[in-house]
Amino acid sequence: MTSFHEELKELLEGEVHFDPITLRAYSVDASIYEMEPLGVVCPRNREQLLKVMEIAKRHAIPVIARGAATGIAGGCIGPGLILDLSKYLDKILEINFAEEYVICEPGVVQDQLNAALSSAGYRLGPDTSTGNRATIGGMLANNAAGARSLYYGKMVDHVESVTLALSGGELIKLEPLSEELLQQKRSQENREAAIYRTIQKIQEEYFEEIKAHFPKIPRRVSGYNLDELIKAEKLNLAKIIAGSEGTLGIAVEIKLKISKKPKLTGLCIIHCDDMLKAMHKVPELLSYQLLSLEMLDAKIIEAGRNHPSIRDKLQWLVGDPQAILIAELQDENEELLKIKLEHFHTAAKKLNISYASALLTEPVAMSSVWEVRKAGLGLLLSKRSYSRAIAFIEDVSVAPENLANFMEAFLLCLKSFGKEAGIYGHVGSGCMHIRPYIDLRSHDEQQLMEKLMLSVADLLLVHGGALSGEHGDGYVRSWLNEMMFGKKLYQAFCKLKAAFDPDNLLNPGKIVHAQALLHDLRSATENSPSPLKTFLDFAQEGGLELAADLCNGNGLCRKTEGVMCPSFQATRDEYDTTRARAQALRAIIHGHLPKDSIASRELYDVLDLCLQCKGCKSECPSQVDMAKMKSEVLYHYQEKHGYSLRTRLFGNLGAISRFFSPLASFVNYLGSSTISKNLLSRIGISPERALPKLAIERFSSWFDRQPKRVDLTKKVVLFNDTYTEFNHPEIGKAAVAVLNAIGYEVIVPPWNCCGRTLFSKGMLREAKKKAIVLISSLKPYVEADLPIIGLEPSCLSMLKDDLQGLVGGDKLVKKIAELSTTFDAFLYRHIVNAKFPITLSDEKMHFLIHGHCHHKSSGEIPSTVALINLMPGCSAELIDSGCCGMAGSFGYEKEHYEISLKIGELKLFPAILKEAITTGLIANGISCRQQIMAGTGRRALHLAEVIAARLLD
Ligand SMILES: Cc1cc2nc3c(=O)[nH]c(=O)nc-3n(C[C@H](O)[C@H](O)[C@H](O)COP(=O)(O)OP(=O)(O)OC[C@H]3O[C@@H](n4cnc5c(N)ncnc54)[C@H](O)[C@@H]3O)c2cc1C
Ligand code: SF4
Ligand code: SF4
Repeated sequence: MTSFHEELKELLEGEVHFDPITLRAYSVDASIYEMEPLGVVCPRNREQLLKVMEIAKRHAIPVIARGAATGIAGGCIGPGLILDLSKYLDKILEINFAEEYVICEPGVVQDQLNAALSSAGYRLGPDTSTGNRATIGGMLANNAAGARSLYYGKMVDHVESVTLALSGGELIKLEPLSEELLQQKRSQENREAAIYRTIQKIQEEYFEEIKAHFPKIPRRVSGYNLDELIKAEKLNLAKIIAGSEGTLGIAVEIKLKISKKPKLTGLCIIHCDDMLKAMHKVPELLSYQLLSLEMLDAKIIEAGRNHPSIRDKLQWLVGDPQAILIAELQDENEELLKIKLEHFHTAAKKLNISYASALLTEPVAMSSVWEVRKAGLGLLLSKRSYSRAIAFIEDVSVAPENLANFMEAFLLCLKSFGKEAGIYGHVGSGCMHIRPYIDLRSHDEQQLMEKLMLSVADLLLVHGGALSGEHGDGYVRSWLNEMMFGKKLYQAFCKLKAAFDPDNLLNPGKIVHAQALLHDLRSATENSPSPLKTFLDFAQEGGLELAADLCNGNGLCRKTEGVMCPSFQATRDEYDTTRARAQALRAIIHGHLPKDSIASRELYDVLDLCLQCKGCKSECPSQVDMAKMKSEVLYHYQEKHGYSLRTRLFGNLGAISRFFSPLASFVNYLGSSTISKNLLSRIGISPERALPKLAIERFSSWFDRQPKRVDLTKKVVLFNDTYTEFNHPEIGKAAVAVLNAIGYEVIVPPWNCCGRTLFSKGMLREAKKKAIVLISSLKPYVEADLPIIGLEPSCLSMLKDDLQGLVGGDKLVKKIAELSTTFDAFLYRHIVNAKFPITLSDEKMHFLIHGHCHHKSSGEIPSTVALINLMPGCSAELIDSGCCGMAGSFGYEKEHYEISLKIGELKLFPAILKEAITTGLIANGISCRQQIMAGTGRRALHLAEVIAARLLD
């Protein structure tokens, strides 16, 4: 073993991982399994990949290819060596629009490919819901499809050739072959020849069996594609690789057909009060040449209503349907599309399956519908309990004309097991995603799951279906392949596997030679969570155990748009995902790592690049709150290893600012001197960063000098955060002016730090003390029901969110959270009939807005954009950026300086730099403004300043 490790290390310096945290990070995908690999490698190029395979074969170590690990069947996990192909093998090698193909490496992400194809009007046909992170290699190996498979089919319909690495690292190219070429291949004396000879035998021996017994349905990805061997066209073994789940070879270069994007599309949303009745009408609906026909049931719609990032996308929903059908049509011509949609709409109405229906053609409205549909699975998984919507019969597939009958029988079967399930899927293709709620910790529930699966398999055989229509067999379904395909076809599968992989070294245990269903289950009884004593209150999440366990591994934290997860977006390393962090915590909770690892350097390291942006709390389907968990972990780590001077400085920023405030001019001068930068550098603060300047006069001192506005009857509390008080009183002054202008007397309570800086640094005891003082100082205003307005988003999120974790969620704390609001949202409440509530100058100005991560996670950003658009002469655009990269003190820390800038460079800086200098910049967070200045040299303002500057006397 050591020499295996050594050989790999020598070959792949820095990209070989055998440490316990990385192994845990790679022990899951989105399935019900959890299995620690032997090791993980991220080859930098094809040569390294082949060499790794050669080394692995010599040591008889199985290899498992891995893309984004969004697979639901446990396909990319196992006890061998994981080859992570997503990090480096991600190049698009050739795009040929004239001949309509693309050649790419396996780690290219679906959306990345589509972005490259889009400007010429092309796309990859299959579109998985996980397209923002799923890799082409994973899509091919799972024979992925998507909502539009009615029109575009599956990956097998698009693959033209595959360059395949066999175990040991030998390369073969699989492409269409004429009979003559085939004969040439078969006559050689090498591994490729042996494969082609076996294929010929399978074709001869099993032709009739394949013809008679392969399921004749549009969606079947279980088993190997033996049906491709009996087609009349030229033999192309690349089609066999589609759906082979890395068990026959590793795809290192993939040539795919590309498809024309539909020019114009429209949706018809059909609200049904009887799901089965609607399913009976699917064949009739399909006669209208639909691009897609999808379904969501009431459970998913309900979960969407409760999810912060989805609820705003449900404007199109009418009432409480038992199911909605989403039918999509396309045309080149707008008028013709309209006619098609109307025609379909009328026909659908006549079927008497809906109580309401609507037509959508506007792109933003349609994309809301698709976002909800794509979030379907994640939404089911977001339930905060151990009884989860789990995946084992989540991909059943029958012919669409058999769907209603199958589902009727299935629902009875489910009922007989006393279970409920969330249901959605591709009704048009007969492929349904069904997830019963099961508590995997219970032995009885596990047994029930197995029995239910067997009953469903029986039902599928009766209805001519398959267990998987797009997610593959993996660990979860392979054990049923012999039953589903019959002994003879299963024998042919085994022969095929042996021809490609005689030593069973490629992803063993998948498709053939499977293990039983019940092995290595996540959250299994023997590993049931053991409670860790936490400082923070995790009651809201159901305990720290459940808070971490909520991560279901679906890998959305590998996407590269939105906020979650900035560290992954910068490094593209699985280790820097929310998932990896949750896995590390789960490993401790479930006893895979010793309990005292909560204070270990290894855990500290995996959390190190977490910017505590809360992107995961709002964007992760399970709302995993890693920012809070990081505070807890930092607390344990530092309680054991001590608090550094830097941590104490950053944590106590408020107290330090108060101490030095009377000497502001001198401190500002000193702060920018080389001597002090050198001194700060010694304690780990980046000398490249400019320290925030102290204001000459504190905001509260200015405010106390202002005459009391007795003319104003309504009152509001302006929360005086540390930065407004000591660094930017001009923002406080601006806010007071605007609030006065809309008729409010402003109350500014004495400055009390909310504890944000202490909280983020894990100095939880001190943070709690501050929180208690703050809460009692706010009490009289809360009792008077006064709105509390926050200017600094991170401090406001302390009031709205983190106080509960720190001191528990008593009535007063909950009321503070309820009454607290951003300045922007408060002002927005005063808009009546789309009219800005105060008279402002109408000077023309365009603004770019960068939302602070905590502001984005509150879901209130749209009101900021709307406000500016309502200001006379103004227009606003939200920068499509995630985290700015500064994140409080993160960007000031020497070891984080570079990655902090790298995060800013991903989207934020380019978006600003390409704008005219006359465009205004708005960023409400102090860190964001500092980072924008550092990365672009441009000064951003707080919204309050922008509005106050336009106030007319
Ligand atoms: C929320 C959610 C929604 C989903 N929706 C869809 C959907 O709409 N349509 C759909 O088809 N699927 C869907 N899936 C399943 C999954 O996302 C897709 O199958 C996806 O294509 C897998 O890609 P990946 O990069 O994550 O592959 P991984 O999960 O990393 O791997 C999948 C399989 O491919 C193998 N593999 C990976 N790379 C290679 C390679 N280069 N050579 C050989 N074998 C390789 C792995 O060993 C494994 O067996 C969904 C999953 C989730 C969690
Ligand atoms: S952290 Fe959230 S987004 Fe990431 S894998 Fe887990 S559940 Fe999915
Ligand atoms: S808080 Fe931000 S950086 Fe940390 S895991 Fe969540 S999304 Fe990633």
